[in-house]
Amino acid sequence: MDIDASIADALKAGRDTLDEESGKKILASYGIKVPLSLLVTQPDGAADAFAKLNGPLVAKIVSPDIIHKSDIGGVKVGIGSAEELESALNEIETAAKAHTDNIEGYLVEEMAPAGHEVVVGGSTDQTFGPIVMFGLGGIFVEVLADVAFRICPITTIDAQEMIDELKTVKLLRGARGGIRASEESIVDTLMKVGGEQGMMLALEGKVTEIDVNPLIVSEKEAVAVDARFVLKRD
Ligand code: ADP
Ligand code: MG
Repeated sequence: MDIDASIADALKAGRDTLDEESGKKILASYGIKVPLSLLVTQPDGAADAFAKLNGPLVAKIVSPDIIHKSDIGGVKVGIGSAEELESALNEIETAAKAHTDNIEGYLVEEMAPAGHEVVVGGSTDQTFGPIVMFGLGGIFVEVLADVAFRICPITTIDAQEMIDELKTVKLLRGARGGIRASEESIVDTLMKVGGEQGMMLALEGKVTEIDVNPLIVSEKEAVAVDARFVLKRD
């Protein structure tokens, strides 16, 4: 995977972020698991895509103008047949057209195994430089702001402490009958973002922000189902 080329292409096209597919390719090149996926350009590509992947599938809008895809009806999950996929793509197209004419296609991907939705992020602090964050997805980050931050590079001990210090950690550990998330997989992902060899340091000067929201963590593994890379333009 040529990360520099994919960043240069995006900048040349006037973008400040990478598209989801390119972002996931970078994550995968760092050893973070991502769902198998295909980019479909038209809704009539559904049958072919369905045949090549293992359902149930997810379909998502791909447009540089749409950042929060589900907010506009741009994400459909649990798609169980080629017919369902085609109607999902048609519905996504209609929803997206209310916002933009610039539809590049649809990312069709396999569902991650059920688990906890967590957020792993990297950003660049004016004072401290690259930093890494961790929290539970959805309301836990957005409403309760139950998140942990560290300055890069982190060690595996720091990564484990980031998990331990969350007020909501009991949920990750299976409280109230939930799944017990693989903390080892979370530590591993945090290292790949914020560790000595992680992306925030390796791509410093090129990427200012990385958002994996969500990383879905089951008992066994962690899968990055969304990826946003913010680029530095110089
Ligand atoms: P956005 O954040 O732009 O709205 P996401 O790609 O994060 O879009 O998808 C929205 C939600 O759909 C995720 O938070 C997750 O719950 C679900 N989802 C997306 N992709 C997958 C996938 N491959 N497997 C399982 N669930 C998924
Ligand atoms: Mg998301």
